Amino acid sequence: MPELPEVEVVRRDLDPVVVGRTVVAVTVGRDRAVRREASPRAYVDALTGRTVAATARVGKFLVVHLADPVGPVDPPDGDAGAVVVVHLGMSGQLRVADDAAEPRLPHTHVVWHLDDGREVRFVDPRTFGQTWCSRLAGDARPVALAHLGPDALDGLGLGAGRTGVVADACAGRKVAIKLRLMDQTALAGLGNIYTDEILFRAGVAPHRPAGSLTAAEVDAVATVTPTVLAAAIAARGSSLRDAQYVDATGRPGTYQEQHAVHARAGAPCPACGRPIVRLRMGGRYASYCAGCQR
Ligand SMILES: [Zn+2]
Repeated sequence: MPELPEVEVVRRDLDPVVVGRTVVAVTVGRDRAVRREASPRAYVDALTGRTVAATARVGKFLVVHLADPVGPVDPPDGDAGAVVVVHLGMSGQLRVADDAAEPRLPHTHVVWHLDDGREVRFVDPRTFGQTWCSRLAGDARPVALAHLGPDALDGLGLGAGRTGVVADACAGRKVAIKLRLMDQTALAGLGNIYTDEILFRAGVAPHRPAGSLTAAEVDAVATVTPTVLAAAIAARGSSLRDAQYVDATGRPGTYQEQHAVHARAGAPCPACGRPIVRLRMGGRYASYCAGCQR
């Protein structure tokens, strides 16, 4: 499943393609991809004719900011601050096609037709992903994403502030630290892959109750989180055998080559050589080194 680094790579790919462009038409081929809208028509109408002002990301959600509508009549409810949100879900991809003649991949559910002839295509074999239009709340986040915690890359802040965010997320919690870090209301953007990698580098076992971490361990988690995420973005994300993550041009990421523990059960720990252990946790598996992580 795409996590923060993969969504950020797609955002960076997409940004130069869409910013300043107008969406001249929208095709919805599968209603389920826009299931949060009142109707597929509502999605098409909200987006058609709009110019893209900027792209952003909150956790695992890609956010496309639309410029104010041009024209003599302001919409009565004030339409400024409209955005399109995209969640890739398990297997979603946003792919850029240079023109309409480029063959569409199977499971292309939504297409944004741009005024330069290019297309942005939302492809999703498993259809857990979705896209919808939203509005901005006071904090410049889409209303629909107001429940998310601070972004694990951009929202952590620096130094002591960064540690404070993680300390607040952990304080008094009995839930396992791995699951707490995956809770999007605590910290937005982390999933199974990056919590494994972050906890390995912080030296903390994934099943420890979040509230049991010492101040030094909280500080270690807060310090390695942006480092791991930045390295993963630089390597263009993680593409695993069972997942379909590719960037907007269809290329897989390479950060899986740097994974220390994730999906490496039985293989030697890169630090101490002990076999990596796989532990069932909350319907998922944590991978960790019992020697390096306490
Ligand atoms: Zn080890």
